[in-house]
Amino acid sequence: MDFEALFQGQLDDLKAEGNYRIFAEMERKCGHHPRAANQTETGARDVTVWCSNDYLGMGHHPDVINAMIEAAKSCGTGAGGTRNISGTAVQHVSLEAELADLHQKEAALLFTSGYVSNWAALGTLGSRLPNAVIFSDALNHASMIEGIRHSRADKVIWKHNDPEDLDRKLAAVPADRPKIVAFESVYSMDGDIAPIAEICDVADKHGAMTYIDEVHAVGMYGPRGGGVAESLGLMDRITLIEGTLGKAFGCFGGYITGSKALCDFIRSFSSGFIFTTALPPAVAAAAQKSIQHLKSSDVERQRQREQVAKLRARLDYFGIPHLDNSSHIIPVMIGDPVKCRMISDILLSDFGIYVQPINYPTVPKGTERLRFTPGPLHTDADIEHLCQALNSLWQQCALSRQVA
Ligand SMILES: *Cc1c(COP(=O)(O)O)cnc(C)c1O
Repeated sequence: MDFEALFQGQLDDLKAEGNYRIFAEMERKCGHHPRAANQTETGARDVTVWCSNDYLGMGHHPDVINAMIEAAKSCGTGAGGTRNISGTAVQHVSLEAELADLHQKEAALLFTSGYVSNWAALGTLGSRLPNAVIFSDALNHASMIEGIRHSRADKVIWKHNDPEDLDRKLAAVPADRPKIVAFESVYSMDGDIAPIAEICDVADKHGAMTYIDEVHAVGMYGPRGGGVAESLGLMDRITLIEGTLGKAFGCFGGYITGSKALCDFIRSFSSGFIFTTALPPAVAAAAQKSIQHLKSSDVERQRQREQVAKLRARLDYFGIPHLDNSSHIIPVMIGDPVKCRMISDILLSDFGIYVQPINYPTVPKGTERLRFTPGPLHTDADIEHLCQALNSLWQQCALSRQVA
């Protein structure tokens, strides 16, 4: 069997479709976010990053960095074990209390990533709750989809952000089956936000538990960075809130929060929690510092919102088509994988602007896009430079404009 040829054949197919992924190699520069050095074959060049999920620059915050350094100096690098076998550190316990407080829940449970937290929590709920049915929003993240698949529970997909469709689908399943409604708050590719209250109303009506992924919202929304549910005063209506420490909090790791019994249940039965080394204590310490900072400081969120509004306004001025939404994510639609990559390449090489092309399978074919995430540290000059660059590319490539 010629395995190399099998590998290469599928890679060649990807390349022919324009969907082959090429990573841009970046060296982030502490204190200069969103600036980074892009490593190329001909050397390094300075670029401005426009697609970072370190939305608020917290990964470069001096207090967060210090927390990591201090914890590493006092406790070392690794946790030294799984949570069960010698790996539970004071930093984990403290961070879990911080997260439970952030979401006003009884308890929290850490995982090695947001991906693992979704996969493990949904996998455990779906397989352990007898005869469960999981109602999954059509645009849920891959980590939720994989968790549901792994659970082998029955799955019903409801129309994206459509509580009426959810209602119909819940009604079609016998009342005595345990039901889980799984959805996100901010959908990261279109930047649209779920109608959380309506979804909770429908879930309550059918006795379903609610599971929300607030990965793109924690740190970003709500007076203390508790997410969209916090900003709407709805945290108590959600059974399980899932989040990441790797995006706005600028660190690494994932978590769930909920009742004591719920977290204990996942802790006790989830393979993805039990059989893996715990987060490095220094990472937990840094994440806790970042959460504490964003609980009391709103300036990062406010400044970010300003820069998001400015970029949208300038894109409108130049007639660059972008998806309208009420989040911090600005998708500029290209609709073709080859063009999308080409524009991204030119932005990087000619303008020092880094925005990764978003192609299939991250988004459906034909909806390829550039996804901009302005942060508090992007200057007005950065925004102007970006818009001028896009404007000249729109001219060169004869791309369609939207009438302002
Ligand atoms: C990034 C992401 C995750 C995974 O979080 P990580 O901490 O990066 O593993 C989960 N859900 C959504 C919606 C995401 O975008």
